[in-house]
Amino acid sequence: MNAMSKKQVWFITGSQDLYGPKVLEQVAKNSQEIVAGFNQSSTITTEIVYQPTVKSPREIHAVCQAANSDANCIGVILWMHTFSPAKMWIAGLNELSKPFMHLHTQFHAELPWSEINMNYMNTHQSAHGCREFGFIGTRMRKERKVVVGHWNTTAVQTEVDDWCRAAAGWHESRNLKVARFGDNMRQVAVTEGDKVAAQIQFGYEVNAHSLGELNDAINAVGDADINALIENYRQDYQINESVFSDDHQLDMLRKEARIEVGMKNFLVAGQYGAFTNCFENLTGMTGLPGLATQRLMSQGFGYGGEGDWKTAAMVRIMKVMGEGRNAGTSFMEDYTYNFGATDQVLGAHMLEVCPSIAAAKPQLEVHLHTIGVRCDVPRLLFTGKAGPAINVSTIDMGNRFRIIVNELDTVTPPEDTPNLPVASALWEPKPNLSVAAAAWIHAGGAHHSAYSQAVTTDNIVDFAEIAGAELVIIDENTNIRELKNELRHNSVYYGLARGL
Ligand code: MN
Repeated sequence: MNAMSKKQVWFITGSQDLYGPKVLEQVAKNSQEIVAGFNQSSTITTEIVYQPTVKSPREIHAVCQAANSDANCIGVILWMHTFSPAKMWIAGLNELSKPFMHLHTQFHAELPWSEINMNYMNTHQSAHGCREFGFIGTRMRKERKVVVGHWNTTAVQTEVDDWCRAAAGWHESRNLKVARFGDNMRQVAVTEGDKVAAQIQFGYEVNAHSLGELNDAINAVGDADINALIENYRQDYQINESVFSDDHQLDMLRKEARIEVGMKNFLVAGQYGAFTNCFENLTGMTGLPGLATQRLMSQGFGYGGEGDWKTAAMVRIMKVMGEGRNAGTSFMEDYTYNFGATDQVLGAHMLEVCPSIAAAKPQLEVHLHTIGVRCDVPRLLFTGKAGPAINVSTIDMGNRFRIIVNELDTVTPPEDTPNLPVASALWEPKPNLSVAAAAWIHAGGAHHSAYSQAVTTDNIVDFAEIAGAELVIIDENTNIRELKNELRHNSVYYGLARGL
């Protein structure tokens, strides 16, 4: 997966001609130094591209249009080094279609007490220049991120990086294609939704393909590709030698490898970044893909079970947002509880949990799968790595989409589960299971989620704001009475904001 490496965020500095060429030269130099600092910083992983200072409505409009039409530009950072009268920004902001961050910083950190004069003040006046710019953003009802502080601090650079990752997620969302093999699980409500509304809101398209098309791709896979993949399995996982010496298990493993190569070829040929399938729709297939889906997720594809295209899209978007961070993102399901001193949730799925979240090298085993097609299915077994995580669920409220986040602490299971033939993660939701699950249920969150240790709540906040989607956060501060009021207020706000 290489979605973020080509992507760029433009750094645009606003000013005006009032100050004369010497000040503007200094402004340009300082902006270039900030951009160089951002690009050298290990905190900011997206390439930041310096753009010449804009000083007039025409220049502002031109750079906004250029950003709109540049395929690699995923967003813009706007900074007012000096005063930039904000009526100049109306035409440009009216047309800017890329997300923007307002960086409220100043080139120098400390005041030069013994030397400060009016020339210094006029050159370094973002303290009020950015407020003039802030007004027009608010007056125009523009959703944007505002980051405040000295640019050369880890705190500011972390916020910049968080937002750039959200912008990358948004770029992915707007370009993503989700393939559906089969339809929604019969009678299931939360995985359904309005795909036209989703495409209007998030940009991604969701297309159905028949099992026949997929089977053609799977059946076209040759033995050489299967043999190569089996060798990869040997390197990537712990496998008991009996899997290779038992003819039946080896046969199932080869069938699974064929499915993996076939599905991947199909997805790549169709430029799909995510997919769904359903155990009820497996006509012509040897079984429900297990290892194959797990491995495709670990290669960056989004996935949702039982036709859950909203979660499939979110898993892919979050994989892009978390790229380069040393942690994983997976399709997940709240499965079983462990009530005790601290109530816990055992998350898993019938097969499809991504090994990017594993605490240790996964174990590849072949076990009987009984739901849908009854047959032996190879799958990876592991437990999720301990540490902070989030679960993210996107639901269709009928007149809008709601994104729900619950912060979690994933913990190491106290005991082994030798009879559980699927991968899992054990977590303690914040603030505790009683409040978290009640809040999740009131908010209408699905049993499915996109689970991540690579993406933070802040990333999702930025993403939801860029997307203009409702966001409900369940964290250590959540209180059910307040949450229920928040949901009521949101209903009114989104009802009004959506208009007719
Ligand atoms: Mn499920």
